[in-house]
Amino acid sequence: SQPLGVHLRAVAVGGGLVCVEAADVTDAHRVERVRRDFVANVSHELKTPIGALQLLSEALLDATEPAPEQPADPEAAAAQAAEDVAASRRFAERMKRESTRLGRLVSELLELSRLQGAERLPDPEPVMVDGVVAEAMDRARTNAAAKHIELVVVGTRGLTVYGNDNQFATALGNLVENAVAYSHEHSAVVVSALAEGDRVDISVSDQGIGIGPGDLDRVFERFYRADQARSRATGGTGLGLAIVKHIATNHGGRVDVRSRLGGGSTFTLRLPARPPEAMLPLPASFEI
Ligand code: ADP
Repeated sequence: SQPLGVHLRAVAVGGGLVCVEAADVTDAHRVERVRRDFVANVSHELKTPIGALQLLSEALLDATEPAPEQPADPEAAAAQAAEDVAASRRFAERMKRESTRLGRLVSELLELSRLQGAERLPDPEPVMVDGVVAEAMDRARTNAAAKHIELVVVGTRGLTVYGNDNQFATALGNLVENAVAYSHEHSAVVVSALAEGDRVDISVSDQGIGIGPGDLDRVFERFYRADQARSRATGGTGLGLAIVKHIATNHGGRVDVRSRLGGGSTFTLRLPARPPEAMLPLPASFEI
């Protein structure tokens, strides 16, 4: 029924008999399309800050070009010089922001490609949840303080997840960073943890702008942003949640989101509490 889904090939078998071979190519086409879209997205995302850097550096060169002749009036000359310095600083500050964005984009792309290429989780071990949560909160503190956001931790003590500590820290850091970035001023971000049988659920809740139903399914896609302008303003790359999703999957866990537009969001990382061989056996009725 899918126009691109099946390739039919007539094969002569002998004695006038013709056999029709069918090959399902839907997946191959889909993978190829996703790959091409991704490359196009990467190029576009890289070109934006590079273009901005080119324009800004030209503007900076113009602003610092020595004037062909100095104004005769020394006061006017001083005023002109002060104006040029102020303009140069503005351009240089924007260049710094754009190059930071570019650096972040490249390191997140590398991170994503490492996660996608990994065949198994490196160095899994029991990781204390409270230490990783405290670290993520510490890193978010400056941005949170600037918006008067209270950071709250509930019930993480004594819990461990079985995984890679760096990856766990990256995933949680991304969720907390987003919670702060998409929160209103004078609100709270709460990180809570709960042991649920063989896994630990770590939730990051905010009282921020929330996500509408049309965007909710797509926020874990690479470069998908519900609000392009806001993401850019917060220095976002559109890769943070794709990284979180890969980390959760590499751990044999998952990440879920509950959200309402204007009503805040809760992202929950569900990670294994123990190594796979120490997991409880399936109930007897499921044994083969
Ligand atoms: P970005 O770098 O744009 O934040 P992410 O992959 O981390 O990229 O998130 C993808 C999109 O999901 C964001 O652009 C934003 O629209 C939405 N989003 C993520 N976290 C939140 C949140 N806590 N509240 C509201 N929207 C969020």
